Amino acid sequence: MKPQDIRNIAIIAHVDHGKTTLVDAMLKQSRIFRENQQVAERVMDSNDLERERGITILSKNTAITYNGVKINIVDTPGHADFGGEVERVMNMVDGVLLLVDSVEGPMPQTKFVLRHALQRGHKVIVVVNKIDRPNARPDYVVNTTFDLFVDLGASEEQADFPVIYTSALTGVSGLEPDQMTDNLVPLFDSILETLPAPQVEQEGPLQLQATLMGYDDYKGKIVIGRLNSGTIQKNQNVLRIDREGNQHSLKVAQVFTHQGLQRVEVEKAVAGDIVALTGLGDVGIGDTITDPENPQPLPPIKVEEPTLRVT
Ligand code: GDP
Repeated sequence: MKPQDIRNIAIIAHVDHGKTTLVDAMLKQSRIFRENQQVAERVMDSNDLERERGITILSKNTAITYNGVKINIVDTPGHADFGGEVERVMNMVDGVLLLVDSVEGPMPQTKFVLRHALQRGHKVIVVVNKIDRPNARPDYVVNTTFDLFVDLGASEEQADFPVIYTSALTGVSGLEPDQMTDNLVPLFDSILETLPAPQVEQEGPLQLQATLMGYDDYKGKIVIGRLNSGTIQKNQNVLRIDREGNQHSLKVAQVFTHQGLQRVEVEKAVAGDIVALTGLGDVGIGDTITDPENPQPLPPIKVEEPTLRVT
């Protein structure tokens, strides 16, 4: 796989606007497209899907393949309480889908995350969902979204966003509300065409920033990040540079990438992909994992202590 064949995206959505439904529809359809190409693949029934859905809570990331391109979808916290995490997720992705309900339009909580995405310079595709709703008002929603972009200081290029209309529930999409296709091809095509591939160095020395953390009772801390440069493989010797600049020589135990809703162990991952690694000891958010022969430390990142949400 080459970096050009990867898209790392985040979906920004207000709760209930249909993010889960859309990701499910994308997963199902990308599987169907692939099955048409490779007959060998097993059709997943809804039970499998349910089982996989359980795993998403742990993995939080999803990956689909469309036309030979792997689209990593990184979960984005929708709340301002997770400010630090939002910023970090925005550093891992190269583009964003802003999903808005065709009746409600953008909501205050989406504004906060969108601001980070725009500040980071990301291109945004606006997805107007639930277009099947009888009281849908797509023109109003697109205009309100445009005003929001302007308010948030979007560049001219960012404000010139493509719009895709969807009904995630039925898995249809279109470039205009009255020109819907019976699939999500217009959305998939827009992701491949509009959002850039990761700008990374395939040949360079290993460099990855521990961006998100997971924990497994058996494997210990799991580091999630985007491979900025180089490749990484099982049992590779790496150097971990922590926030204080201390260096730790370690060996990567396992390398995982994402496929569907699952984490899959791989021998090797390439620059641009989002990986999960085990065996890196007491690693912290912001640590750099790099090549011991040619260390490339990254500047430490801001890590906010989580604030307690009173509900
Ligand atoms: P999330 O909170 O953003 O993940 O939203 P969900 O995907 O859970 O969807 C919230 C509700 O909206 C559910 O009842 C969905 O069935 C419904 N929904 C999602 N997409 C659509 C759509 O395109 N049209 C309609 N009518 N309902 C939808």
